This record gives sequence, structure tokens and C-alpha cells, in this order.
Amino acid sequence: MARALPPTSSGAPQPRPATAPAAPGAPQVRPATEGWQQKKDAEGRPLLQFASPKRGKPPEHLADLTPEQRIEKAKELGLPGFRAGQIERHYLTRWTSDPAEMTDLPASGREELVAGLLPPLLTEVRRLDTDKGDTIKFLWKLHDGALVESVLMRYPGRITLCVSSQAGCGMNCPFCATGQAGLTRNMSAAEIVDQVVRANQVIARGELGGKRSTDQSLERVSNIVFMGMGEPLANYARVMQAVRVMTDKKHGMGMSARGITVSTVGLVPAITKLAAEDIPVTFALSLHAPDDELRDELIPVNSRWKVDEALDAARGYFERTGRRVSIEYALIKDMNDHPWRADLLAQKLNARGRGWVHVNPIPLNPTPGSIWTASEPGVQYEFVRRLNAAGIPTTLRDTRGTEIDGACGQLVATEDDRAAASAS
Ligand code: SF4
Repeated sequence: MARALPPTSSGAPQPRPATAPAAPGAPQVRPATEGWQQKKDAEGRPLLQFASPKRGKPPEHLADLTPEQRIEKAKELGLPGFRAGQIERHYLTRWTSDPAEMTDLPASGREELVAGLLPPLLTEVRRLDTDKGDTIKFLWKLHDGALVESVLMRYPGRITLCVSSQAGCGMNCPFCATGQAGLTRNMSAAEIVDQVVRANQVIARGELGGKRSTDQSLERVSNIVFMGMGEPLANYARVMQAVRVMTDKKHGMGMSARGITVSTVGLVPAITKLAAEDIPVTFALSLHAPDDELRDELIPVNSRWKVDEALDAARGYFERTGRRVSIEYALIKDMNDHPWRADLLAQKLNARGRGWVHVNPIPLNPTPGSIWTASEPGVQYEFVRRLNAAGIPTTLRDTRGTEIDGACGQLVATEDDRAAASAS
């Protein structure tokens, strides 16, 4: 792993580079789908789907509601409003939705209250884990049969959950397993939150491996990354409600906003909106290419908002929140890993000031024989070295989860998953 250089101190914007320099030497592999056909619009461009198809709504749940609405709901169910607070604590801090465990609630009406506020949302269909058990991928079935996944990972000093925000995805990226089937529907805020609650239950039961035997501490998910299925900013309102529930100290899970990473392929107006929220989450832009020519093909939403617009919005996020932005960059052999692209990326980031951004290259999962495969280690090293040398803190991320197809761009329901879901 490359050592990240500290950011330099000057915040003064540098002159903007004009265009990409000519590429010397290395071959240029162009993005193309393998084994499936990208849906195209009338002009032959990859289809982008922003609106969620109309489907039956998931049942309304406590985590979809504001604290005031929860009180109203308890009253509608014929109980005093303060009972809503008790249920809230059971579900969001003790991770239970079992009425039998809520002994501080009167027995009469307890079942009805719990059924009204905590309807079941996720059915576990399948679980895959790594040898050491420190990474678990869950496949969940939603009320309408839609399938989503989350991945739980133990790292030294933290436990991270990668959550899904949509069933499927409408952004149609040609390298991405999730995007192939298009967008099934937006997930509700409670369906997003329930992934965290369910993961915390698994941790509490001691089912996540890798814990040191001497460690007696009570554990829970400490970090959340919105890098599972879906484009979170295409489901903005529900994702923000979920983030509020996760971070609310009085009526929610009390998590640190800094430990929550909202990632996007570059929906510029939504990035600006996110910056104006009073919740300093960590913001990550999945850039994957510094030049429009390649990014138009690699990330179809680039046809709507170009590299410079996405970077300006990311810089705006930093200015508004003071939170350093992450640039995610999957390193793909001979496609986007050229030294000149590292230099162009560094130029574009430095042109917007210093100390505001961190780059996380992640080698794509090795896929022998595919055009979508990991860069050579020497190429990865050189890419990282050039960015660091230009004063951009850059750290190669690990590819945890690759052995169970739990890494970014790999979350997709397979035929096996669908068969298991229909049997469950
Ligand atoms: S890479 Fe992300 S934005 Fe692109 S299709 Fe996949 S899930 Fe959607």
C-alpha cells in the first residue's frame, strides 16, 4: 500500500489545465459490456434511468418517520405518544423488533404497536462469508421480492457496512454487475436503515469473525458506506432520511456523520444539495477517469454532467462543509491507468486548490481474459506515486470482499440468488 503524502498547505487555486495531453505508448482499451447489452436511448447513448419505476410501496416503518410522526403514529394506534420513544430505542439502539423483549411496554397493545411501527422489511435469503468470517455478504429479499445486498467487514478498530440504496441501478455503467438489470426501484429509508440494524444483530450474536479473543468490548457497525447496489443520490430524500436516523443522537442510532460515506458517480445538482444539508457526511465521487472522452463511455452519467462539473461540485462540498472529499478511482488495466491520466487527474485537482481532496485508487477485481481487469501492480504503484508526487494524498484501497463478489460493482442478484429467494 502506498504511503499518502500530507496535503500541502496553500489553498490558492492553480490555473486549470486545458485538455488531456496526448497519450504516449500504452494501449488504450475502450469500455464495452461483456455478455450483456447496454440499453440505449433513441440517440444510441446508454440509457439513464433516474425515476424509480412505480411498484407497491414497502410498508411504512418507524425509520421512515420523523420523531413527531412516530408520536402521531403511536397515538393513531391508541397508545400514548411517549411509547413511540420506547420502541425507537429498542429498535435503533438495542436492535430488536421482538415484542417479547420490550418488557417496559405494557403487554396489552404491545404486539399491535410493534406491528404498526416495526413491520418486517428484509428477509435474509443467503449469507456468504470469507474464510476468517471477517467479511459477510447478505442477500436480502424485500416485501415485493426485489433483491438487494449488503456487505459487513471487520477492519482493525472499525466495522464497516456497505449498504444498498436502490434495488438495481439506473446509471448503466458498463463494468457494473448491478447496473445490468436497470433500476427495479428506490429503497425506502427504513429498508436502508434495517440493513444496519440487522448487521448489528449479527455482530451482537458474535457471528462476525475476526474479533480478538481478549476484546470484551460491545461492538456495532461504526462506519457506513453507500457503495452497495444503487446510486444513492438518485434516491436522495430517502437516503437523507436514513442518514438522519443513523446520526440522530436523541431519536436515532447516534452514529458519527463522519463515519458515513455517501458516494456518487456525479449527480451534480444533488451534490450541491448534499453540501447544503447540515450533516457533515464523508463525500466520495466515483470518478474513474479524468478525461471526458473516456468517462463518457465508462460512466454514462458523464454525458449529463462532465468531469469538470463533477469536480467543481466536489470542491464545493469541501468549501461548504470543510470535509475533505474522496475521489474513488477503479484502476482498470490499459483503460484508465495510464501515467498521463494520473498526471491529468492531479492537475485537475490541484487546479481547484490544495488540501481538499484525497484519492483512493482501487484495483478492479482481477478477471482473467476480460477487458475489465486489474491494473498490473507496477502500474498501480506508478499511478499512486505520480499523484502523491504532485501533492495529492493518495492511498491504494484494499479489495476486501472480492472473493465473495462483495466488492463495488459486483453486487448483483444471480440466478442462484433468485432461486434461493423464491424458496425462502
Ligand atoms: S457502478 Fe454504481 S452507479 Fe454505476 S451502475 Fe453500478 S451501482 Fe450504478
